Amino acid sequence: MENPAIADQFDEMADLLELDGANVFRVRAYRNAARVIRDLGTPLRDLAHDPKALVELPGIGTDLAAKIREILETGTFKALAELRSKFPAGLLELTRLPGLGPKRVRLLHDTLGIASLGDLRRALEEGRLEGVRGFGERSVRKLKEELDRAATRGEKRMLLAEAEKWVNALLEHLRAGGFDTVEAAGSYRRRKETVGDLDLLVATTEGPRAIERFVSYSGVEEILAQGPTKASVRLRGGPQADLRAVHPDEYGAALCYFTGSKAHNVELRKIAQALDLKLNEYGVFSGERRVAGRTEEEVYEALGLEWIPPELREARGEIELAKRRSLPQLVELRDVRGDLHAHTNATDGKATLEEMAAAARNLGHRYLAITDHSKRVTMARGLDAERLRMQWREIDRINREAGGLILLKGVELDVLDDGALDLPDDVLAEADYVVASLHYGASRDPRENTRRLLRAVMHPLVDAIAHPTGRLLNRREPYPLDFEELARACAAEGCLLELNGSPERMDLPDHLAMAAAEEGVRFVLGTDSHAVSHLGYMSYAVAIARRAGLTKDRIVNCLDLEGLRRSLKRSAYRPIQ
Ligand SMILES: [Zn+2]
Ligand SMILES: [Zn+2]
Repeated sequence: MENPAIADQFDEMADLLELDGANVFRVRAYRNAARVIRDLGTPLRDLAHDPKALVELPGIGTDLAAKIREILETGTFKALAELRSKFPAGLLELTRLPGLGPKRVRLLHDTLGIASLGDLRRALEEGRLEGVRGFGERSVRKLKEELDRAATRGEKRMLLAEAEKWVNALLEHLRAGGFDTVEAAGSYRRRKETVGDLDLLVATTEGPRAIERFVSYSGVEEILAQGPTKASVRLRGGPQADLRAVHPDEYGAALCYFTGSKAHNVELRKIAQALDLKLNEYGVFSGERRVAGRTEEEVYEALGLEWIPPELREARGEIELAKRRSLPQLVELRDVRGDLHAHTNATDGKATLEEMAAAARNLGHRYLAITDHSKRVTMARGLDAERLRMQWREIDRINREAGGLILLKGVELDVLDDGALDLPDDVLAEADYVVASLHYGASRDPRENTRRLLRAVMHPLVDAIAHPTGRLLNRREPYPLDFEELARACAAEGCLLELNGSPERMDLPDHLAMAAAEEGVRFVLGTDSHAVSHLGYMSYAVAIARRAGLTKDRIVNCLDLEGLRRSLKRSAYRPIQ
C-alpha cells in the first residue's frame, strides 16, 4: 500500500474519533501522523521491516507504528474497522460539508436521525432543521448552498501528464487508421495543469469511419454515445473522451472553438460581431458566406488578429496583444539547454549520478544540476556536508571522464523552521547552484512562511527557490504566502523562482509566474527528477512558462553553461576572508 492511502486511513480515523467525541489529543495524533506520512519521500513499506525506523518519524510512536505495520500486512487496522462499523458511512461524508463538523453532525444524527447527504437534503426541504439548537436561519441557508455545491462538484481532474498518456494513445490509434489531421483540444491543448474530459477533433470527409475507428480503441471500456460525426467513450481506468469528426473546411474553426477557453471565445465572438461577422464552430461567416474556417491562422486573421498560441487563450490580455501583433515569442522545449533540479539515489532518487547524466545527455541537455536533499530531510537520507562533498568529488570525476554534458554541483537546501539554512555557508560557497525549498512546518500564517522564504532569498549563496508554493495537485493546497512580497524580493536580489515541472506540482502556478514576471523576476525550469524517466517532465515546466507568457530570455537555463553561471546570484559573491 502506498503512503497516501495509509495517510487517508489515519485521517479517516481522526474524523471518526471526532464523531465519537474522543479526546482531542488522540484525534490530533492521527491527523499529525497522516500529514507526516503524506509528506514522506520514502514508501513506508520500505521502512516497516526496521522496528526503529518507523518510531523515528516525527509524531509516530510505538502505537501508531504498530498500526502502520498492521495496515501494510492486512490492508487496514482493527481500531478503524471497529469505529467504521459504529457509524453509518454517510456520516463521515456529512462531516466534510463546510459548516458542519463532527459535533454538529453527531447532533443532527442523534436528534433527527440524519445519516447521509440525502437525509440532510430531505430534512432541509421539509424544514425539520428549524428548532435544532445551533441551526439558525443563516446556517440553514448556508447548508443548502453547500449541499448544492457538493452535488455539482465533479470528480478530481486528471493531471496533465496522465491526460497526455491517453491523448497520445488515442491519436496514435486514429493515425494508424489513416486519420492524420487529428488533435486534442480543450484545456489539454492549453496545457493546463489539470484536465477534465478529453476533446478530440479529426478533419475528415469520412466521419462515420473515423468514429468507428475511435470507438474500436482497445482502451475503451464503454461507449457512452455514438453517431455519424461524434462519439463519447469512457476509457478503462481513465477519463471520458469525445471525438468529433468535422469537414476539413471547418477544422480550424472547430479547433479554435473546442480549445477555448470559454472566456477567450467570448472575446473572439465580440470582435467578430464588431466586424459584422459571425464566428462559430463551423467558421467565420459574412452573411451566409464562409470567409475562414480551414485553419486557426485563417480564423484569427479574419478577425484581424495574429494567431494566438493555445497556452495563452485565457482572456488575460492576449487578444489585445494579438491585435497589435505583439504577442511574446514563447519559450519552447528546444530552447532549454539543461535541467537544474534532479535527485539521485544518494537521497530519494532512484538512479545513480552516471545514469542521470547519461539520460540528460540523451535528451540533448548540455548540463544537469544534481540537487539532492540536505540533511533536514531525514526520510530521504538528506546529505550533510560530508556526504555532499563526497558526491561533489564524484561529480568532478565524472565531468573529467565523460564528455558532452556537465554535471553541476548543487543541493536542494531546506529552509528550516526559523528561516535558517540547513548547511553552512562554506559548503554552499563550493556549490555551483543552490536551490532552497520549504518542505517542513509550513505555517497557516502567511507572514511566517514569507519570512522564512525571504531569509533564503536574501542569502547571497541561494540561487533559486524551488516549488515556491508547495502545492500538490489534487492533494495539498499551496501554503499561505505573501507572494507579491516574495516576488519583489526575488527581483531585487536576483534570486530565481523555479517553475517545477513535476506533474503533481507544476509549481509555480501559471498565474503566479505571470505576476512574478511582471515584478521582473527571472526563472529557472526544473523537473525535480527522482528517476531517469522524470527528466522528460521538462515539457511541463515549459507549459507553465508558456502559459505565463514567458520568453526564453527570462529563463536562465535557456542560456549556455557560461551564461548560466554568470547569471546566477552567487556569481556576485566573494567570500569574506
Ligand atoms: Zn523539494
Ligand atoms: Zn526536489
